Amino acid sequence: MATDFVFPAPAQPSVAVEDRTERFPVRRIFCVGRNYADHAREMGHDPNAEPPFFFTKPADAVVESGSRIAYPTATADLHHEAELVVAIGRAGANVTEAEALSLVWGYAAGNDLTRRDLQAEAKAARRPWDMSKGFDQSAVMGAIRQGSAIPAGRMRCMVDGVVTQDTDLDQMIWPVPGIIMHLSRLVALAPGDLIFTGTPAGVGPIAKGQVCRVEIDGLAPAEVTVF
Ligand code: MN
Repeated sequence: MATDFVFPAPAQPSVAVEDRTERFPVRRIFCVGRNYADHAREMGHDPNAEPPFFFTKPADAVVESGSRIAYPTATADLHHEAELVVAIGRAGANVTEAEALSLVWGYAAGNDLTRRDLQAEAKAARRPWDMSKGFDQSAVMGAIRQGSAIPAGRMRCMVDGVVTQDTDLDQMIWPVPGIIMHLSRLVALAPGDLIFTGTPAGVGPIAKGQVCRVEIDGLAPAEVTVF
């Protein structure tokens, strides 16, 4: 028997998959707060002192690579954050590092768009980050590549072709299995969950009219134009 709703149910947010017409349905979006030592230092933190911490974005914040998006409201300092994204395909709670990769469906390039000015205000006032991180169209995603093997090599971000972030993925403080282990102690992970794994140094502004492109070796790019 079909379930009836008081109005039509919203569309299922989803992400493109490489070499498939079927799409990856997005359930939740989790993000690691600080996961590269050079970025932790540029934001004024000791990279060795902290276990990973997490924040979230709504599932429908996801943006397809190649999209044109409006400059967000309520900010004068939109920033890019190039990140490797883990796509979860199997449920798991309280998993070990050894079990962690069995939950992975695939990986993608992503851009954790941030209202940096609102984030700074939130930090100063000890308020939540939601409106600095979880706004509309704030989770840019390239197509997901299926497979649990962790991508290796370089990740870079370019604004109008100028390289702003450039790192080796081996510079993560918490590699992918540790991120999944820690997050699975906090929530029961489920198929459709995405995990943005943190950004290296070099975060900076995107102005109206600019193109921001995140590239990770072996993965499809995540590119967005802001107007
Ligand atoms: Mn981030």
